Amino acid sequence: MPLAEARQPFYAGVDLGGTNIKAALVDDLGRVVAFHTEKTHADRGPEDAAARMGEAVHVLARRAGLATAELAAVGVGSPGPLDLQAGTIVRAGNLVGWDNFPLRDRVAAHCGLPVTFANDANAAAFGEFWVGAGREYDSLVLLTLGTGVGGGIIIGDLNVEGAHSHGSECGHMIVDPAETARMCPCGHSGHLEAYCSAKSLVARAEEAIAAGATGALAAAVAAGEPLTPILVGREAEAGDGLATELVMETARWLGIGMVSLLHAIDPEAVMIGGAMTFGGEKAPVGRAFLERVRAEVRRRTFPTLAEKTVIGYASLGGDAGSIGAAGLARLAAGKR
Ligand SMILES: [Zn+2]
Repeated sequence: MPLAEARQPFYAGVDLGGTNIKAALVDDLGRVVAFHTEKTHADRGPEDAAARMGEAVHVLARRAGLATAELAAVGVGSPGPLDLQAGTIVRAGNLVGWDNFPLRDRVAAHCGLPVTFANDANAAAFGEFWVGAGREYDSLVLLTLGTGVGGGIIIGDLNVEGAHSHGSECGHMIVDPAETARMCPCGHSGHLEAYCSAKSLVARAEEAIAAGATGALAAAVAAGEPLTPILVGREAEAGDGLATELVMETARWLGIGMVSLLHAIDPEAVMIGGAMTFGGEKAPVGRAFLERVRAEVRRRTFPTLAEKTVIGYASLGGDAGSIGAAGLARLAAGKR
């Protein structure tokens, strides 16, 4: 939106991912005035990335026609686990060598503004809550299906971060306590992420094919196509039995995890976001996936929750994290 129509003050949000750094400058109503994206280059180390995250704030301000000092505050979203009080990354899954890095203060030093620090999935949840698919609701849970499974819980103006910065880690809820349960990348078994992430979908597909499953998906893989969630989604769209079963099995596990969230929180809405949504509302497989999640939830919850809890797709896509981080900076500044 043009700067002349924007409402002051302005906030910047910077979302650190394993692949990209995404930044957004928003106005007081969460409307985007400027975007900036660049590669993370995680191998160059955290100090280099922190410098570029700080620079991204200057870039946003210039693009919007503002001086950086005219921004009220900055929000930074980062993969965790984090120590939010200390402003550090405790252990960043796919960012090797970044452990215990003081990201909040280093970005603040590079951009010269106060920085609010948040888990990336919590930031994305706040983005959806503030200006996305969750804007009509007073409470929501966001589950992001990607390489891993992220979670964010927003209740009113409370971003649930917990006493030890591990609140809202919905991807690590136990959905299968059996000794034979799948291993989660976090090192424990039976977690939601071990069943609903892109990695899990690919691993389950590989296992099924190795065990002799046939059909179009197996044939495509045998012909050398890389086995990805996009391929599984495409073959499910074309009616392949194994691909459809894999997608629906993912939905079933997601529904099981969701029921525990409903019973712990009773949110108005649960949104599904991230890269692995099989085309979302726009695609038949995406719609079938969502219907299967809803059916599994209805089967296992109380009648009131089955009837009233909204379960749907998120709407901000890959921009939820940066917009939400900016929103959390605004919230920290005392704005409702
Ligand atoms: Zn886990």
